[in-house]
Amino acid sequence: MSELFLYNTRTRRKERFEPIEAGRVRIYSCGPTVYAPQHLGNLRAYLFVDLLKRALLAEGLRVTHVINITDVGHLTDDADRGEDKMERAAERSGASAAAIAAKYTGQWLDDRKRLRCLEADVYCKATEHIPQQIELARRLEAKGYTYLLEDGLYFDTSKFPRYADFARLDLAGQAAGARIGDVAGKRQPPDFALWKFAAPGVQRQQEWDSPWGRGFPGWHIECSAMSVHYLGTHFDLHTGGVDHIPVHHTNEIAQSEAGFDLHPWVNVWMHNEHLKLGDEKVSKSKGHTLVLDDLVARGIDPLAYRYFFLQAHYRQQQSFSFDEMEAAATGYRRLLSAAVEARSAAGEPEPEERDALEYERGEFWAAVRDDLNAPRAMEVTWRVARGSLSGPAKRELLLDFERGLGLGLDNQQPQPADSPADPRIEALLEDRRAARARRDFAAADAIRDALRAEGIEIEDTKDGVRWRRVR
Ligand code: AMP
Ligand code: ZN
Repeated sequence: MSELFLYNTRTRRKERFEPIEAGRVRIYSCGPTVYAPQHLGNLRAYLFVDLLKRALLAEGLRVTHVINITDVGHLTDDADRGEDKMERAAERSGASAAAIAAKYTGQWLDDRKRLRCLEADVYCKATEHIPQQIELARRLEAKGYTYLLEDGLYFDTSKFPRYADFARLDLAGQAAGARIGDVAGKRQPPDFALWKFAAPGVQRQQEWDSPWGRGFPGWHIECSAMSVHYLGTHFDLHTGGVDHIPVHHTNEIAQSEAGFDLHPWVNVWMHNEHLKLGDEKVSKSKGHTLVLDDLVARGIDPLAYRYFFLQAHYRQQQSFSFDEMEAAATGYRRLLSAAVEARSAAGEPEPEERDALEYERGEFWAAVRDDLNAPRAMEVTWRVARGSLSGPAKRELLLDFERGLGLGLDNQQPQPADSPADPRIEALLEDRRAARARRDFAAADAIRDALRAEGIEIEDTKDGVRWRRVR
């Protein structure tokens, strides 16, 4: 029996996690909509899933992880109005929707690597699973859950009595304040499109034939169709940001439970709270574009953002500011320095310190098993890093904690302070290093002088060359 306790949005309780199949876990995560770069808020969602996955692996479970990539159908308004985000981005930039999707998918995969997120087993694209989505919509139609309007095929939420349960929706209140709005003929406000027709006279870049007419899938159907395609009709865990609870995940549940006659479709639903900028949620649609590269440009190691993330519980909102980010970067550098020292310790822990060592190990994993309590796990990590255990004992523990943290305590070096990553300066420093190696000190000094003329001081330390702007 697993010792892991997770908060389940479906039941609103912390529950002991039991996989459906012994020893094996199946997870589906709502992934990026790839019309723009993933901002730091989005990355919080993937760091949260990575923490979860590491906790499951540490329990000895085999994990199958599927993440979708939304490259069609996500409208600017979650409730079936507005434009398709991909088509709009294509129109504005002049690039094709496919080229935009490829660019931002690549960036996101690269960010995941820089944050040391474990690779998913499947990254599935909505545009590559149109037949599966049509099949599910047909199934729902055959069972009488749908109706056809001029602009698409809709799910009739009144036919699914549990519709309000998951998000504790007030449907009567929604109906009273009805803004069925732009979609003429919608029977209830929360009814949503399974398939949308291309608007008359509009040539979309992304459209397909379907039994109902040429068009594109509604946003929610891709997650129901692809998760079931890869994980089977009943699986263990489904994740996303809290913004998905009232619409996207509620609609996914309606489609899947109605389509496949099961309840619950997914045992455990988990949601990360938002990253905020001041009082606002960091949001692409509000034009917030704070991305990982903005941190790198300020000389912050991408993994320092992971360290920042670990300082708050995933179910708490977290506020971003550059001051706090810089403080996290300093904390991360110090922790890495402690890890580098521990890694170089020779020998084995003393037998007398075994109890103390096992106590700390227990404390760390108890924090992780308590609904992924990262701040508590970080406290234990720091207690060990700063504490009086021997070098080999610290090494053993920090390498063990690394499995849960993913901070690179096993192989990363602290990035020197005040040396923002700047490819041009790094290249000059590399030239200088090469000149010194071939004992061409005149060339090495010329590079130093040229940098000094720009206001950049360099310093040779035992960890390598550091540089900083002095004016
Ligand atoms: P999107 O690319 O907009 O579909 O979002 C990708 C993931 O990021 C989803 O799981 C969202 O719920 C999540 N998300 C969006 N904004 C934030 C935020 N400010 N903080 C944390 N997660 C977010
Ligand atoms: Zn989804």
